[in-house]
Amino acid sequence: MSDPSFSDRILATVGDSHLHEAIGKAASALKERRGAALASLPDVEQVRDEARAQRLAQIPRLEALAEQFTASAGARGVQIHRAGTAADATAIVQGIAERAGLLRAVKAKSMATEEIHLNAALIAAGLDVRETDLGEYIVQLAEDRPSHIILPIVHLDRGDVGRVMEETLQVPFTDDPEQLAAIARRRLRADFLAADLGISGANFATAAEGLLVLVSNEGNIRMVTSLPRVHVAIVGIDKLVPTLTDAERLLRLLPRSATGQTSTVYTTIVAGPRRGPDDEGPDEVHVVLLDAGRSAIAAGPQSEILGCIRCGACLNACPVYGRIGGHAYGGTYPGPLGTVFHGALPGDEYEDLASACTLCGACEAICPVRLDLPGMHLQLRAQTVERGRAPWRKRLMMKAFAVVATRPRLFRAVRRIGGWWLRRKARGGWLSRGPGPIGVWTQTRDLPAPPRESFADRWRKREAR
Ligand code: SF4
Repeated sequence: MSDPSFSDRILATVGDSHLHEAIGKAASALKERRGAALASLPDVEQVRDEARAQRLAQIPRLEALAEQFTASAGARGVQIHRAGTAADATAIVQGIAERAGLLRAVKAKSMATEEIHLNAALIAAGLDVRETDLGEYIVQLAEDRPSHIILPIVHLDRGDVGRVMEETLQVPFTDDPEQLAAIARRRLRADFLAADLGISGANFATAAEGLLVLVSNEGNIRMVTSLPRVHVAIVGIDKLVPTLTDAERLLRLLPRSATGQTSTVYTTIVAGPRRGPDDEGPDEVHVVLLDAGRSAIAAGPQSEILGCIRCGACLNACPVYGRIGGHAYGGTYPGPLGTVFHGALPGDEYEDLASACTLCGACEAICPVRLDLPGMHLQLRAQTVERGRAPWRKRLMMKAFAVVATRPRLFRAVRRIGGWWLRRKARGGWLSRGPGPIGVWTQTRDLPAPPRESFADRWRKREAR
């Protein structure tokens, strides 16, 4: 059986009030906290402008930054690997594990590792892999997928989490967040102590200094990057920044936009393996610089999306994400970010995501680096039409609309006849089952019947007075 289409996935979620409530609560709390945190930055608009300029200026220089990082981190004893594809990246990590005889991995939250399906590859190769971010830990126990890039289990409430732990860890049910966190902490501590491989991503990798910068609130990243004898970081090349000063500027925006904090509880800087027997940290540090389509995006019309700092704010602002949740998007990155990132990759697997956008502009307004997300959605839609891949019904409708909309008399006649017909079909002023293409709209909501007098008619009358 083929995978469900985007439309099927949407229809499976639009009626899920449990999902809407969970996302709505989290998104409105985060938006409120974000507003207050950004307001605490006196020069916030200037910082956003500078961050945007910095991120966009470096996109054509990603290869040069990768080379500079390779040299500077290499000088610190970090082993750098280049991965063109997801398969290359998983093979590199498997090779490191095999050569060093590593068997037990602990992982920090990393969307890049989700993107390359690293867990599945390592488990298939015989490794034991444990997620250590609390949300990702629940995702792993539930054999689920993250539905948000910052809040992986935004689609679950605490009762759901309690049931997952009860079923998978055989502990008594509780929905008390402190008790749930304590259960996870006890289990994870044993995993940290037994692990020989730590796997992380990175929020930024600084080309000049050869450093990895990672932020977290739970402290698990410090354990992952310092306790096991080997640390491997999977870093998308879009995470490279020229200098530590550039990373610092982005750190003024990232936690504020992501979780509404002025700074995260922990900021970890990885500078390389331990330098001697009396030093602390892993014996080996490896960085896998992941391309996986990023170079192709950088050379294409949606290159701006590589300026994203993965704060997740556009997901919280998006009315479409709020109705369908993260899983319906199908890719690693949901919401406006994911629509553009996956849509800009070569291939057509995600081309219909952009058609769900309402073009309300909320994502652009909230994005800390002011990415033109609505503009890139429009470009993707135009590309789909140019490739002749828009559904024939939609193409026919748009052609008919163009004929009618460019002939004012015909437009008025169609509006009058169509309005009269729809008013006849309406009950109590509302259409609950629309005809033809309007039927898709009325599958999930009612449509008000068109008024007898249109806005254009009223305007004409007003002007004639
Ligand atoms: S596109 Fe902008 S708002 Fe969305 S995750 Fe990226 S940086 Fe944040």
